[in-house]
Amino acid sequence: MQRIPKFCPNDCCRYHRVCRVPEGTFVRYGRHHTAAFGAVQRFRCRGCRRTFSSQTLSIDYYVKRPVDYRRLLRAMGECAGVRGCARSLGISPNCVINRTMRAARSALWQHAQALEHISLDEDLAADGFESYAVSQYFPNNLHTLAGVDSQYVYAIDGVTIRRKGRMTDGQKRRRDELEQRCRADPRGVEKSFARIVEQAVRLHAESARARLTLYTDKKTDYMRACAASAAVVGWRQAGRFIHRRISSRAARTVDNPLFAVNYIDRQLRKDLHEHTRETVCFARNENLQMERLAIYTAEHNAAKPFRINQPVGDTATHASVAGVEAQALADIRRRLYRNRKFFTRTSLPEWAERIWRRRYSTPLREAPEYRPGYLLVGIPYPGKRPARRPVDAPAATTARRV
Ligand SMILES: [Zn+2]
Repeated sequence: MQRIPKFCPNDCCRYHRVCRVPEGTFVRYGRHHTAAFGAVQRFRCRGCRRTFSSQTLSIDYYVKRPVDYRRLLRAMGECAGVRGCARSLGISPNCVINRTMRAARSALWQHAQALEHISLDEDLAADGFESYAVSQYFPNNLHTLAGVDSQYVYAIDGVTIRRKGRMTDGQKRRRDELEQRCRADPRGVEKSFARIVEQAVRLHAESARARLTLYTDKKTDYMRACAASAAVVGWRQAGRFIHRRISSRAARTVDNPLFAVNYIDRQLRKDLHEHTRETVCFARNENLQMERLAIYTAEHNAAKPFRINQPVGDTATHASVAGVEAQALADIRRRLYRNRKFFTRTSLPEWAERIWRRRYSTPLREAPEYRPGYLLVGIPYPGKRPARRPVDAPAATTARRV
């Protein structure tokens, strides 16, 4: 017997944003058999009269083949490419991509939930990690904002930049040709970093700290992004915000204030195949690259031990060092890759919303980005399907099947 849901998946219903609906809101409305999940219970909501099934609330909504998410994410975080993951799980590469997108929304939900439990108690470091998508003619900067003491990743953001550095004449001609079709925004780094600064501002505003120091390298785009933030300008005058710039040539040791971001850069280069040097497993899609980064940083925050050589029995993670209580973290992790996460029930920071909405544009891509109907809407396609009464449902009804 499947349990009664806690809320209505229809985002237009008054029972959608509640923690738990009053007793008797949902009535059982028959069951149907599926090859993938066996018997699936349907419900009807008395608030909006829509029907839905237990699958509507599952991360595997619409899925025809169950996949072990934790196995998939473990393989992905251990430097396997999409096809490698597909081979080890016995599924198709498209199936790996589909499940990655689903897991990414859960990861973004975890980022958002954990932020609600954190009162910032450390300084922050931010930096751009250079990688690329589609072709080496389209490098990008993947910005991370991390805690200096905890190495907890508070925000990520990405931007395509112009290819620079030494090139042959042929490479320069090729770059000019490609730039006729797709040209990086010259102010892209500043705009992307502004979203990182926005997250730092939000964390500082919600904390009890008197002063925040943000460490970055000496890139001028970072200075401009800080200068463009009204909150940062005001706090600077009041002595509440310090932007300290460290040379990127300084030794990358634990004593370097940029250690947190240097450490994360190193881990990314080592653990995600698309960021290793001279790889053929590079990202073909900018949105998928950001989704994989969201998953990786969520696992880094909450699942990896804080220190590899920490004493036996010490369960410290980057999240716990950043201030997320163990019980709250366990509650977040418990159903992370089982329940479907709803956009309308998740309070996302701007950087996370861009990834969830798949707002990144992939260089040279002419087809529109894939955005499934259920990405933002609880029950998509209202009223398009004909009403169909399940065999063992009550006879009299005006409810629509979705
Ligand atoms: Zn409802």
